[in-house]
Amino acid sequence: MDLSKLTIAEARRALDAKEFSSVELTREYLSAIKEKNADIHAYLETWEESALAEANAADDRIAKGSIASLTGIPLAMKDNILIEGRIASAASKMLENYHATYDSTVTVKLKEAGTVFLGRTNMDEFAMGSSTENSAYGPTKNPVDTSRVPGGSSGGSAAAVAGDMAVAALGSDTGGSIRQPASLTGLVGMKPTYGAVSRFGLIAMGSSLDQIGPLTKTVADAKILFEAIRGHDANDSTSLPNREETVRKPKVIGVPRAFFNSGVEKDVLDQFEKKLALLQTAGYELRDIELPTAPYGLAVYYIVMPAEVSTNLGRLDGIRYGHSVQAEQLYDVYAKSRATGFGAETRRRVLVGTFVLSAGYADAYYRKAKAVRAEIRSEFVRSFESGIDAIVTPTTPSPAFTFGSKSDPVAMYAEDVFSVPVNLAGVPAISVPGGTVERDGKKLPIGFQIIAPHRGEETLFTIGEDVEKANG
Ligand code: GLN
Repeated sequence: MDLSKLTIAEARRALDAKEFSSVELTREYLSAIKEKNADIHAYLETWEESALAEANAADDRIAKGSIASLTGIPLAMKDNILIEGRIASAASKMLENYHATYDSTVTVKLKEAGTVFLGRTNMDEFAMGSSTENSAYGPTKNPVDTSRVPGGSSGGSAAAVAGDMAVAALGSDTGGSIRQPASLTGLVGMKPTYGAVSRFGLIAMGSSLDQIGPLTKTVADAKILFEAIRGHDANDSTSLPNREETVRKPKVIGVPRAFFNSGVEKDVLDQFEKKLALLQTAGYELRDIELPTAPYGLAVYYIVMPAEVSTNLGRLDGIRYGHSVQAEQLYDVYAKSRATGFGAETRRRVLVGTFVLSAGYADAYYRKAKAVRAEIRSEFVRSFESGIDAIVTPTTPSPAFTFGSKSDPVAMYAEDVFSVPVNLAGVPAISVPGGTVERDGKKLPIGFQIIAPHRGEETLFTIGEDVEKANG
């Protein structure tokens, strides 16, 4: 079996045609994981026994003809999405032994579809980072070039798919954590509209920004996985109502060129311009647009997000659950548990978040950032109302970087310049493979980001498939 070319769509066809069984397919992936994971470190844990049992049950369903889109398809789950009875550690020492007591809503949906869960994937601790170097369990390598990072925070999920150790995977995206690793490993990664996919059972990072979404080999697969996990959920108060969207066929693409002055490497921009030209040949009209506030997205994000992080991680205090250090005084239990349970980047963000929310500084930082966030959102909405169907940018300013090369936190944050405005605005976006650039004699993939209006996922899939066709 050639796993390198296997997509959800292709596996579905072959399973239904009885060319192979889900058990055979699952065994194939489990042996690929055995062979490669020690080096790549995409998975923190695999679940051979239950995966084979799930595959067996899926084969029964297929034999009876009760088939859903994902029946019998082996997937990887990011380590911050709850599966009842399984450890979900968010790659933190704090939750090293935390067993989920319930299923997340996306887990429920995948179980109902008869999916096979191969294991949980590595990530930056609590989804904070762009390289998986912030994992408490060691970094993941990029299968394209193992001297480089796979991106983050969903780097384990991306490496599992790019390294042919899963057909597809789920990640979470607070400021780019699905799109950026997709870009750096040559995959498709999509962040849905805020509220399109339930966050119930996702370990919270920045609650007003987080969304679960797919990492796949093709746009068609991203659509299949998105359709399987989306939908209103009474357990998530920010969940959108179910509504059929009629989205017109996209024609006009907005290009915010002034925004690209934010540090994009020259050959990355050249590749981006090439894809744009191909879209124009395919019949799209390109229009120059201005998003004057978007460059401030990075500054806004690194205030709003840590504020929410400091609140969400407050519950991890050494008392209620998770890692706990004994001490004489209660205060020392809190201080010692948090000091030893959280890694450096997590502590940095809790401190920044607590500071920007504090009585003397909330007006200067948090409230100001909220106001600028509202303006960023309005800029997107105004562009889309002026006849623009989608906006495109490079996904990241540069290709995959080497381990340790962005040890300065601010250099790492700069990686998110094109992805965070999307989360701040709540709109959906997808990263599709957008060519390669050469570094140290190696061809490295880079992503092409497409951004659509709220609930405009269909637009992302249409343009994304046109980019794929143009790629040939
Ligand atoms: N790289 C960004 C950060 O470090 C995004 C993380 C994410 O989307 N979870 O916050």
